[in-house]
Amino acid sequence: MRIWNGPMAVEMSLKRYPASRQWLWLGLLMAVCALLGGAARAAVVVDSVRLHRSPDSTRIVFDLPAPVEHKLDKLANPDRVVVDLLDAELNFDVTGLDYKDSPIENIRVGKHQGLTRVVFDLKEAVRPRTNLLKPVDPHGWRLVLDLFDKDPKSTKQVSQPPAASGKPRDMIVAIDAGHGGEDPGAHGPRGTREKDVVLQIAKRLKALMEKTPGVQPVMVRDGDYYVPLAERRRIARQENHADVFISIHADAFTDASAHGASVFALSNRGATSARARYLAKIANESDKVAGVYEEEKDDSNLLSVLADMRMSGSMAHSLYLGRQILDELDGVARLHGGRKTVEQAAFAVLKEPEMVSVLVETGFISNRQEEQNLRSASHQEKIARSILNGTQRYFQTHPAPGSWFAAQRSGNGDQYRIQPGDTLSGIARQYQVSEQSLRSANNINGDQIMVGQTLTIPRS
Ligand SMILES: [Zn+2]
Repeated sequence: MRIWNGPMAVEMSLKRYPASRQWLWLGLLMAVCALLGGAARAAVVVDSVRLHRSPDSTRIVFDLPAPVEHKLDKLANPDRVVVDLLDAELNFDVTGLDYKDSPIENIRVGKHQGLTRVVFDLKEAVRPRTNLLKPVDPHGWRLVLDLFDKDPKSTKQVSQPPAASGKPRDMIVAIDAGHGGEDPGAHGPRGTREKDVVLQIAKRLKALMEKTPGVQPVMVRDGDYYVPLAERRRIARQENHADVFISIHADAFTDASAHGASVFALSNRGATSARARYLAKIANESDKVAGVYEEEKDDSNLLSVLADMRMSGSMAHSLYLGRQILDELDGVARLHGGRKTVEQAAFAVLKEPEMVSVLVETGFISNRQEEQNLRSASHQEKIARSILNGTQRYFQTHPAPGSWFAAQRSGNGDQYRIQPGDTLSGIARQYQVSEQSLRSANNINGDQIMVGQTLTIPRS
């Protein structure tokens, strides 16, 4: 019900009448308004409300056609939170919201003189906070109510810090499903939302990594809620000691024919292409779209992060990892522009100096065929497997000291390049292995060896 539309429509049709008739009409109109009384003053109609549950908070979002004044109260015995929306009417059944995993017990709505009161009855006390957000695509005005849990669940998923025991450690991979909650990301022609498909791919990747020796996956988000960009890096590195960070996206472009997967790393000299710059800009706007609080905003300095990444070598490793993933994606998905080059731009989510970080753009959700692919379970599985294979290859070729991969490599034996004058028996003696094990490790029959040939030395 939008009462202000009425008078405008009447006003326009009045133009055909003489002045005296207009006054008569206006008088009638005012009388009708007076009859409607309080209702006529309810200028703002809220007709959409969303709820997102994260591991440590519950976010309720009121979509507003215009800003509203509101009042927030926290009451005890019994615990409840009360939000008064002034001069607003609620035209949405909030009792139908899915709050079963949250501290909310029940939601009640009451209408009072000139205001709508929404009461959240709680199972336990929470720390409430509100945030009135200005319009940002795809949202209009929003009033966000966050109910922070009294005892927030830890985001720690890794039990022991790496290298605490003498055993070869797992490589920890943080899997970051882009967007989430209030930030839907891009969407396809059929309405597929990026935040949904990337979470599905992330979950498949996690399942595959759990079955992979030497690798331990960690999920940055595992539901439909938003995690601020700086917090994503913190969960990965500080909380879970991740070695590698893989952000999964499926972006869109105005040109519906744009297609193909690509992989990105942080840039050290501007973006490598206009498209890379554009994608980074879109990705970095996530915090704004989701509506993060001032103190949650990313304030890390790009230049100093880049310097640190170069120093620690994680930039070179990020590019190498990206290349391995691209190699694996080639054939499973089309590559964007047919190029096997890791592109670079200033993606905020990749700015962690100590972590090897890449962003995988799994395809264009704006492309009808790729939207179809991204929705399909078998294609999602193939994408996830490509990312796993590329990551595994990176760990095998660059095994971190003390890791399971490093132990595997030494377990598989050293390499020896045959010099002039070498004999099989001599090499066997030198490495204290039997001639027979040297033969079988290298598929050699007899005693014939060639200068320049590389032998694998089996463990004795
Ligand atoms: Zn994205």
